[in-house]
Amino acid sequence: MGAELGKYKSCVSARSTDKEILKGAQDGGIVTSLFAYALEAGIIDGAIVAGKGDLPWKPEPVVATTRAELLAARGTRYNISPNMSLIKEVTRSYGLDKVGIVGTPCQMQAVRKAQLYPFGLREVGDKIALAVGIFCMENFPYQSVLQLVEDHAAMKMESVKKMEIGKGKFWVFGERGQVVQLPLKVTHKYEQPGCHVCLDYVANMADISTGSVGSPDGWSTIFVRSKIGDSVWAKAMAAGCFETKPMETVKPGLELVTKLANEKISKNRKTLEERASFGTGKGLRNPYL
Ligand code: FAD
Ligand code: SF4
Repeated sequence: MGAELGKYKSCVSARSTDKEILKGAQDGGIVTSLFAYALEAGIIDGAIVAGKGDLPWKPEPVVATTRAELLAARGTRYNISPNMSLIKEVTRSYGLDKVGIVGTPCQMQAVRKAQLYPFGLREVGDKIALAVGIFCMENFPYQSVLQLVEDHAAMKMESVKKMEIGKGKFWVFGERGQVVQLPLKVTHKYEQPGCHVCLDYVANMADISTGSVGSPDGWSTIFVRSKIGDSVWAKAMAAGCFETKPMETVKPGLELVTKLANEKISKNRKTLEERASFGTGKGLRNPYL
């Protein structure tokens, strides 16, 4: 496999063995189980996660220092949760010395930048003990999620149980068992424009990254990337937190992850090139010229 999947030490398909976590998790419950284990084992004192905000499906970054708080933040919310905004606060006001953080690939890049160039973040970088990245093809503004759910899927935001992007569709699951699938050609125009120049699908900068793509329903694909990630993963495995299958034995497997990563990178590279040529005459689409 090429550079599109980033550097990694190992890759498996996995699922949490914790039934309580699995019940409300988005996929294999990897993120919540990793943090719950790390908290119990003293590897972290708490984690910055995307908690439930005031509006339905609008995440709010929170510092979770208990298993209950981690569990309350399970599941995917398809709009920005600015988790990095708490990175200073977590070490100062909350006084945490060993911090976990979950985030999209762009947020994992921000974590590493904060460690490399700690302007205004003195003594914060060393306290990041576990960075868990989630795969990400695109994200949406909150207003767009509202329109997709209420206008296109004709459901009330507060009656949605789960949202998911997979198998080429945007799925909305209602509390009474309703399921609405929207073709991605409907959702494309709602994506954040910033996501169209993003070249990372699988959170290359995380200690451990995970997403559903490549693995069967209810399971997750895991890339263990760093020394820290390797050590935490090995300990969590030894503690019985996960059941795993070799990636080569599952369908659709790494081939699909590679294909989607390549599609994202080549599509967004084109947008980058188009933007780079703005104002130079090349590719300029000015109707007055
Ligand atoms: P869980 O145990 O359910 O925990 C999920 C964790 O993610 C929680 O800690 C929660 O607080 C946090 N979280 C939820 N929403 C956000 C958010 N908006 N920003 C930051 N953290 C958040 N996977 C793919 O395989 N392919 C994709 O194309 C893909 N696109 C995604 C796009 C977005 C915008 C997001 C947020 C996620 C995407 N995912 C994608 C990841 C996938 O939806 C799951 O989040 C991931 O598989 C983890 O599931 P889990 O069961 O291990 O996590
Ligand atoms: Fe961030 Fe890229 Fe995902 Fe957009 S597509 S939310 S920029 S990781």
